[in-house]
Amino acid sequence: MTALIELICRAHPSSEGLGPLITPVDQMWAYCEGRGNGGHEWTRIEPTRRDQLSDLLRIQNGRAS
Ligand SMILES: [Zn+2]
Repeated sequence: MTALIELICRAHPSSEGLGPLITPVDQMWAYCEGRGNGGHEWTRIEPTRRDQLSDLLRIQNGRAS
């Protein structure tokens, strides 16, 4: 996928198991790392490529992996 992600979900930070969900929201691509079924909390970000998003999330979540 080469689309730019413009929204990320704060409600479902875990990516255990199923992997992330990428879905169109308000004509932007939205990324939910925990693949929640609903109740997403979309946060606007700088448009970011999918393959760069994991680095961004790792920094923002303060994870060491
Ligand atoms: Zn979500």
